[in-house]
Amino acid sequence: MPSRRHYPIGHATVVCMMPRHGWMLALAALLAGCSRTDRAAVDSALASEIDRIRAIDNHAHPVRVILNGPPDREFDALPVDNMEPASDPVNARPNAPPLLEASRALFGAADRKAQLQREKGDAYPAWVLDQTGVDVMLANRVAMGPGIQPPRFRWVPYADALIFPLDNSGLAARNSDRKSFFALEDKLRARYLEESGLPALPASFSDYLARVVTATLERHKQGGAIAEKFEAAYLRTLAFNPVNRDTAERVYARSIGKGAPEEGDYKALQDYLFRYIAAECGRLGLAVHLHTMAGAGSYFDVAGANPLHLESVLNAPELRKTRFVMVHGGWPFTREITPLLEKPNAYLDFSSQDLLLPPATLAVTLREWLEWVPEKVLFGTDAYPYSDQLGWEESGWVAAHTGRQALALALTGMMRDGEISRDRALELARLVLRENARKLYGL
Ligand SMILES: [Zn+2]
Repeated sequence: MPSRRHYPIGHATVVCMMPRHGWMLALAALLAGCSRTDRAAVDSALASEIDRIRAIDNHAHPVRVILNGPPDREFDALPVDNMEPASDPVNARPNAPPLLEASRALFGAADRKAQLQREKGDAYPAWVLDQTGVDVMLANRVAMGPGIQPPRFRWVPYADALIFPLDNSGLAARNSDRKSFFALEDKLRARYLEESGLPALPASFSDYLARVVTATLERHKQGGAIAEKFEAAYLRTLAFNPVNRDTAERVYARSIGKGAPEEGDYKALQDYLFRYIAAECGRLGLAVHLHTMAGAGSYFDVAGANPLHLESVLNAPELRKTRFVMVHGGWPFTREITPLLEKPNAYLDFSSQDLLLPPATLAVTLREWLEWVPEKVLFGTDAYPYSDQLGWEESGWVAAHTGRQALALALTGMMRDGEISRDRALELARLVLRENARKLYGL
């Protein structure tokens, strides 16, 4: 692991070195006085212990090295290259300082990325994990492949295509992003059908549930999956209400193979299918991962991704055996998500937040979670090939570094405020970076 730079956030001497920001000077003088030597924001002994913990990354999209042939496109069920323009957050922009730092740390000033990929081939993805201090990465991919295999990579396939079995043209017509997404979901469902050995969707709902939905989940499980992922927040609201089977069956039977169903009817069918899949995942010992965060694209429905929409799912007695992981920790609803951690079947990770937010900002959220139910908080990166410059390697590196820095900041604060001992701080760091995931997935 390369050496890590700790941002001296909140350090009064740093503030004094920024003369252009007059208000910051005034603030610093008010709060501390520039002559005083303040303690560093991070406890450096704790930070170096945290750096040494080999992490389990709860959520990422590693990419295979394919030297001869078309590039790997199985790193996501919804790999959309061209979405309508949106205003990028600062840390996702080209030449963002953390990105440049990641690139230098991984590939050097001469950028040896392509050369390393050629030299290492299938050993390259595991090499990337070594550079970021990640022991095991949960690979959220349509399929695994050479170079992305256990024990370093564990599979999390996608289940969204199974909850949209009808004509999706009505949903796709809403905007250009949805049009791309539903075309990809239709393609993935066709793949699942083929893998299930069926030429077309069954006419009977019972057959659809047994021969397509359950069959696909069981195949995933046999293929090594430890969880199923829903990117549903990109496709609809996360309010999956309770719906009785007769209603779902009627909608399916009436619409299968016909035109687009009425939207309310279709939502009821999707809601039923989501809960059916969640229950099946509980039976099969698969966790359920859900994207809970504002998402990419200018049409993303932020309100629909509020994790509070999942409360009725978490509260359903028949779904208490299913472990739900709210991936990305619900940002911006990070306070709303906190009490959900009390549900026995609820977990979260802070992937993507550690890519897009600075350590000090993320630390505030982490501290609230660690003061509430720390055994349900998981580290994750959301390493993803965002662009040529911001690949899964660089994004994973930035997120892993920021995540560790934020954790060190949060724990330092708790220690200095007398909430926890140094031993407990280290124990919490191990839980978040590794042990909570190990226990959750039985790794
Ligand atoms: Zn992701």
